[in-house]
Amino acid sequence: MDQKKYDIAIIGAGPGGYVAAIKLIQGNKTVCLIEKQFVGGTCLNVGCIPTKTLLSDADLVYKATAHADLLGIDKEAICPKYIKMKQRKDSVVEKMRKGLQGLLQSNQITILHGQAEFISPKELKITGEETCKIEAEQIIIATGSEPLDIPSLPCDHQFVCNSTSILELSELPKVLVIVGGGYIGCEFASLFADLNVKVIILEALGSIVINQGKSISDALTHAFHKKDIEIQTNVKVIGIDKQESGLRVRLEGGKELFCDKALIAIGRKLISNGLGLEKIGVVLDKKGAIVVNEKMQTNLDGIYAIGDVTGKNLLAHVASHQGIIAADTILGKTVEMRYNAIPAVIFTNPEIAMVGMTFEEAEKAGFTPAIGKFPFQALGKAVASAKTDGFAQIIIDKSTGQILGAQVVGSEASTLIAEMGLAIAQELTIDCIVDTIHAHPTLPEAWYEAALLANEMPLHLPPKRKS
Ligand SMILES: Cc1cc2nc3c(=O)[nH]c(=O)nc-3n(C[C@H](O)[C@H](O)[C@H](O)COP(=O)(O)OP(=O)(O)OC[C@H]3O[C@@H](n4cnc5c(N)ncnc54)[C@H](O)[C@@H]3O)c2cc1C
Repeated sequence: MDQKKYDIAIIGAGPGGYVAAIKLIQGNKTVCLIEKQFVGGTCLNVGCIPTKTLLSDADLVYKATAHADLLGIDKEAICPKYIKMKQRKDSVVEKMRKGLQGLLQSNQITILHGQAEFISPKELKITGEETCKIEAEQIIIATGSEPLDIPSLPCDHQFVCNSTSILELSELPKVLVIVGGGYIGCEFASLFADLNVKVIILEALGSIVINQGKSISDALTHAFHKKDIEIQTNVKVIGIDKQESGLRVRLEGGKELFCDKALIAIGRKLISNGLGLEKIGVVLDKKGAIVVNEKMQTNLDGIYAIGDVTGKNLLAHVASHQGIIAADTILGKTVEMRYNAIPAVIFTNPEIAMVGMTFEEAEKAGFTPAIGKFPFQALGKAVASAKTDGFAQIIIDKSTGQILGAQVVGSEASTLIAEMGLAIAQELTIDCIVDTIHAHPTLPEAWYEAALLANEMPLHLPPKRKS
């Protein structure tokens, strides 16, 4: 078997692995990137990019339909072909994958196509398109995650799909049941509802996106009801049967539902198995996440783990930043991963974005929080562009004015959150926002107004009545 030697070997070419590879090449190291499937990982191939491409097209359809009466558009004339959207999604993914391959080549990163497994802490066996042995001083594990399968709800990938196989649909179902009301389930719910599919979300917990705090889950529930998305909470799905005319979904307690397709979106399985980690003694937690410190080091010298497989925040930008921290640590810099200012976006329609603490989390952490919440209804730009659903809110520590968290629901939330990410990462106080001139008329003015409200000095909302 061929044997090759590199300074660093990276397993997995998702947003964690490939970003780490580029950083290490910039530090004059020899690097090989091992990938068993496609460069770009989940994010580029079956995650962020394909879903956001479809969501963007669905948003166009939604807006045209929602504004049809206002603009005198014939609603009947709006009948998009889903196959065209799928084809555009496929071509976006292919274009970005080719772009990434070119970027890696231009950085002279060796890509080995195959599956990696540890032989010893400094040796890997690669099998697949390429079969060889790799020796490396340091190894970064960036193997990501995959849809979680549960035996009671098996996917046939034609009628019962997971988040990957649902992307292969070439026509729309009439009724779609989504099992799981987390962010992935909700994004698909929004996408298909905007394309006139009847969507039913079945959630085992008390509300959808429950981890994001009450104000966010309430706002999304309200927006989904307006779209006629049916949400059933505190329900357990015990089986899905294929019938002649579609699917029968069985709930605990005897209730049944009928649909054409079902999407199982109940979570992600971290890919820490099949790597030989037990053989070399890398410590995992109960969920199978590789345990790392703030420098992304595992318990074994020279072995790092980044991205979803660490089980921290399963987001592409977190994987990339962890990749930078691991690479910088290998290059001898003193850096640490911090998780207090990580923006997260739910790309539903309306969009939802948050960073830092919720009000409840701030209270739990011992702060005396105050909140400034400004509705889009009172914002010139939102009214002018007929996007008045939603709000922006800032949570501050009352005694110091430090910004602890921010949430925004509404148009462009994904873009708006960047300002608050900066504010929290740089530990800014609310006066920094108040003292920053925001262009008019723009949506970011919502932050300015929310900041004034947190300071109890509103400009474009009536003052609180003195009791
Ligand atoms: C439907 C969906 C939508 C999403 N939308 C967003 C979003 O909008 N924004 C966001 O931030 N995140 C989003 N995510 C999450 C995001 O995709 C992940 O957090 C991100 O891809 C994690 O990056 P990673 O590098 O850790 O792993 P991955 O991207 O999963 O890459 C890991 C790579 O390792 C390879 N691999 C695994 N084992 C081996 C092995 N033994 N040998 C060789 N190669 C191996 C895999 O083939 C894969 O290519 C979404 C995910 C899904 C499923």
